[in-house]
Amino acid sequence: MARMQNGTVISNGNGAPYVSVVAGGAGFLGSHLCEALIASGHQVICVDSFVSSSRRNIRSLESSPDFRLFEADVCEPLGLRGRVDRVYNLACAASPPRYQADPIHTMTTSVVGSLNLLRLAEARGARYLQASTSEVYGDPEQHPQSESYSGHVNCTGPRACYDEGKRAAEALCFDFLRLGRVDVRVARIFNTYGPRMQPDDGRIVSNFIVQALSGKPMTIYGTGEQTRSFCYVSDLVRGLMALMEARLPHEGPVNLGNPDEHRVLEFARIVADLVGARNAVRHEALPTDDPRRRCPDISLARELLGWEPTVSLRDGLRETIEWFRSTEVASHPHDPAPEQRMAATAGK
Ligand code: UDP
Repeated sequence: MARMQNGTVISNGNGAPYVSVVAGGAGFLGSHLCEALIASGHQVICVDSFVSSSRRNIRSLESSPDFRLFEADVCEPLGLRGRVDRVYNLACAASPPRYQADPIHTMTTSVVGSLNLLRLAEARGARYLQASTSEVYGDPEQHPQSESYSGHVNCTGPRACYDEGKRAAEALCFDFLRLGRVDVRVARIFNTYGPRMQPDDGRIVSNFIVQALSGKPMTIYGTGEQTRSFCYVSDLVRGLMALMEARLPHEGPVNLGNPDEHRVLEFARIVADLVGARNAVRHEALPTDDPRRRCPDISLARELLGWEPTVSLRDGLRETIEWFRSTEVASHPHDPAPEQRMAATAGK
């Protein structure tokens, strides 16, 4: 019999704990997922190349008997031995400056990496979850974005390495599913934040917190009228695990994110207010193909998984700011000039 804990299956039919591979497990999101899986009774194999992640993120896990690290690049076939029950594929740089710093590697990671991990899942009879992204909607003409919207993506622009790579990975996943080769789930993840975001990864949440803590001007790209919707990491991880374990009557992607939408300018004010800072604002050029609006329609996740975010933006930001403070980021600010943004991460 399968073993259950809090309604979640955590062992295979022989009573042994599930073995879950988390590719990208040393990343921001991946390390939180590894932690949550171990806390719910899984054994975890973290696969990571440390190209855009950090060993620091998994330091507290390395002493756990339920955690193993397999250092590898998913672009190469994985010589991973032993039983595998679940494969979570979170392997890919996710911040625009980072994924654009080595665009060919980004595309290869999404497409070849996913293929290698799908093959691993197929060989072991494991279930597979793909971390896809709201970027598959590009600069959306439908608002909020529901899963049936097929997107508005520039396939030749600087974001294409990520957007089109993730779209191709989804195509691969659904072909494996239709061919009956792997039981696949695809999560379209919207902007997520929390402790362990890299201070210099160039994303809005880490940039604004680091700038607010270090008294630097907050960099608003464009007018700041563009919007994003921010999900706290624990909510997102709960959604990923629920999607992996759900009995799905539905074959298709599922949006996971927080529909609480904010303009970038307003978001800067919220961060400054929570930090207690009175930073100036500096406007910089809007990056090419920067989506103007983004907000998930999460009706499907509510209906299929009974999932929705529970952490408010202010509570989540307080936790995140506390973490940034405790890592002394404020005393080692990274604030690359606009022209250095790419170069600063080129050696990631
Ligand atoms: N942004 C900004 N200042 C920053 C970093 C980002 O105004 O220092 C804007 C960016 O142009 C985008 C939004 O914030 O409109 C979210 O950017 P991020 O890089 O976090 O992720 P994206 O959602 O674009 O993938």
